[in-house]
Amino acid sequence: MSDFKVFDYMEKHRYEQVVYFHDKTTGLKGITCIHNTTLGPALGGTRLWNYASEEEAVVDCLRLARGMTYKAAAAGLNLGGGKTVLIGDPDKVKSEGYFRALGRYVQSLNGRYITAEDVNTSTKDMDFVSMETDHVVGLEGKSGNPSPMTALGAFHGIRASLMHVFGDVDFTQRTFAVQGAGQTGYYLINKLVEMKAKKIYFTEINEKHIARLQKEHPEVEFVQPKDIYGLDVDVFSPCALGGVLNDDTIPQIKAPIIAGTANNVLLEEDIHGNMIKDKKILYAPDFVINAGGLINVYHELKGYNIGRATRDIEKIYDRLLEIFKIAERENIHTQLAAKVFAKKRIETINNIQDNYIKR
Ligand code: NAD
Repeated sequence: MSDFKVFDYMEKHRYEQVVYFHDKTTGLKGITCIHNTTLGPALGGTRLWNYASEEEAVVDCLRLARGMTYKAAAAGLNLGGGKTVLIGDPDKVKSEGYFRALGRYVQSLNGRYITAEDVNTSTKDMDFVSMETDHVVGLEGKSGNPSPMTALGAFHGIRASLMHVFGDVDFTQRTFAVQGAGQTGYYLINKLVEMKAKKIYFTEINEKHIARLQKEHPEVEFVQPKDIYGLDVDVFSPCALGGVLNDDTIPQIKAPIIAGTANNVLLEEDIHGNMIKDKKILYAPDFVINAGGLINVYHELKGYNIGRATRDIEKIYDRLLEIFKIAERENIHTQLAAKVFAKKRIETINNIQDNYIKR
């Protein structure tokens, strides 16, 4: 028996609500966690996973919901952090009824929580959810595929990083190593090509993705996955997996900047955040630089307009410059500075809302 205590964890990290739900007809079994709604309704996707235990599911849900609070706050959005996890085998459980049952539970939270697609759930599944609730985003035909917008946000994050380190954003003078040319890496590479970057290397393990780039941009040079870290470039851009910044890889990195789309790239946030800082490498915090997709989907709630969404995504540039300044001033690693930045926004808004004003 494990001794994980949900209420102790909720108290420690100040969670607002944890909801368990079960629908006998469809076999739906899940948990919604709402971490913080100071800035607005909690938004976070629905993840379907064959968790080994209920504890593993609730721990994952709690962790992901809190991450969304910081991500939305740092992105300047009026959203809180939440998440839903569904316990089940993605190949077996899915049906119209299953996702409509989920929609009814989302609706029961009356707008305190907004869901979207995530690992093992699709826009098609969310269409069923939307038959039962309005509190769902990322639907087919609305804000569209988030990946190009995530890549666009990362591009602005790279601009901010170049400005901080080199004092200019001249891509024609800079070299890049991109890890992963999937949904986001592909669009990012296209943007770097468009900016006439001096040299771009990439690595991939998917043959189709390698062939696509080699056909479209033969000047972008392929390297083996193990060789990507040690390249003598200006920017290393992780756009594939989590945990790639660790004890093995950080000593190999020669680039003065790490900035890409991938989530949870620091294997151990504090240990590896500090290791990167000590090597005097500038790290663009993942949850800030990869928020373009979230910012884009947020605009669905306000009546989607691609121009407005794009302009909001551009603000990642200023936000990162501010975070880099906090990191320098406080002498802390940039991932921590990003959290300080996010928490400060939540606290400030919370405090200005202290006095009652009738609207
Ligand atoms: P994806 O699966 O489309 O692309 C990842 C690519 O990396 C794949 O082509 C895969 O073959 C490749 N890859 C896997 N392991 C590799 C390795 N060892 N070396 C080289 N290449 C490898 O995923 P994506 O949507 O581009 O997401 C990439 C990262 O960005 C993930 O961490 C994801 O969580 C994060 N992210 C994505 C979005 C989005 O809008 N798609 C938003 C925020 C964060």
